[in-house]
This record gives sequence, C-alpha cells and structure tokens, in this order.
Amino acid sequence: MSKKNKKILFFGPVASGKDTQTFLLAKKYCLPVIAMGNLLREQAEQKTQLAKKLFSYLKSGNLVPDYLVLKIVQKRLAKKDSKAGFILDGFPRDLVQARSLEKITKLDYVFELKLSNQEVLKRVADRRICHCGATYHLKFKPPQRKDICDKCGKRLFIRDDDQPAVIKKRLQIYQQNIKALRRFYQKQKNYYLIDARPSIEEIHKKIVSKIDPESSSG
Ligand SMILES: [Zn+2]
Repeated sequence: MSKKNKKILFFGPVASGKDTQTFLLAKKYCLPVIAMGNLLREQAEQKTQLAKKLFSYLKSGNLVPDYLVLKIVQKRLAKKDSKAGFILDGFPRDLVQARSLEKITKLDYVFELKLSNQEVLKRVADRRICHCGATYHLKFKPPQRKDICDKCGKRLFIRDDDQPAVIKKRLQIYQQNIKALRRFYQKQKNYYLIDARPSIEEIHKKIVSKIDPESSSG
C-alpha cells in the first residue's frame, strides 16, 4: 500500500451513492469521516465560547457563517487521527469554503460522483421507507412483499424529502453550488470524475485504483 496521505473529498448529488462509497473507503483505509452536520452538533455541545456561538446558530436554524465553520474544521483536522488522512463529507459546499480549506490543508484526492438529473430522479422515485426505520429501494433492495416492510409488516411509503418536487429543488441548488467548486478542483491534478451508474463494488474498485494504482492489477 502506498504511504501517501489520504485526505479525501467526495462530492456528488443526492442518490449518487456518496455515503456508501465514503463508508467503504473509510473502512478500507481506516480513515475518519468528518461529516459537517455531525461535527457542528458535536461542537455545539461543548462548553466553549465557540460552542455557545455555534449553538445559537443551530438553534435558530440559520446558516452557520463560514468563519465559524472553518474554525471548527481546522480544530477537527488538527486532531491526531486525521493527520494522515480523512474523508470530508458536506464541506466545502462552495468556492469560498473550498478556498478557505486550502489554507488549512491540502487535499490529496477529490472525487466527484457523476449522475444525471434524470438518473437521480429515477433512483429516488424507487426509495421507500417504513415507520420502524427500515429503508428499501425497489430496484437495489426490494422488500419481499410488495410495499410491505420485511421487519414489521407495515405499509411502506415515500419520504417527504424524496418527493420529486423536493428532489428537483435540491438538485438545482446542488448544481448551482457545484459549478464553481468543480471548476476550482478540475484545475488540480487530483480531481477524478467517477461515473456513479455502475454497481457499488465497481465504483469502489475504481476509486481505490485511483488511490492505489498498484492494487488494481492484483
Ligand atoms: Zn417496518
């Protein structure tokens, strides 16, 4: 295995399999996943001045300002477990944050999972959930009986967040933000565009082959 650092950023639209790929990669290389949402909530529970400020933003539902987000990321990246590598999730969201991040650390790999809007809508339309917390996908993880939960026998339904109008809106916002971000990272040698249509295993292999070029031959 190469001794190179593995500071990794993933981005991709909803339903692109980003979370699954992040999980697999983190497991393979023992990397901490630094998820922005969790990190903010975690920090807000501390008893520092920073936490107090942060808490008031989170409580009001307002967007946490960049300088605060950055301070928290910087603090997290300084921890011992992320010295040799980490996977960033949900940050940076836009060009301003990306530029600020560069001042703190240098990313080794940037992976963009590419999936067309049409494909995203198709994938999300097949998602089902149950009140008990079980999740299904009609194509990738179907229930044994149509529309019925395997675990508790109740009827499955589509989450409000998965309604086509909501997804379309989210995609629109994502595409807007990602344009400048993509242009920024495309100029760097460590940017990889990955087709998100193949199977989970195939995509994982592809990503690993970029990190460990030698491993793909064996
Ligand atoms: Zn259920």
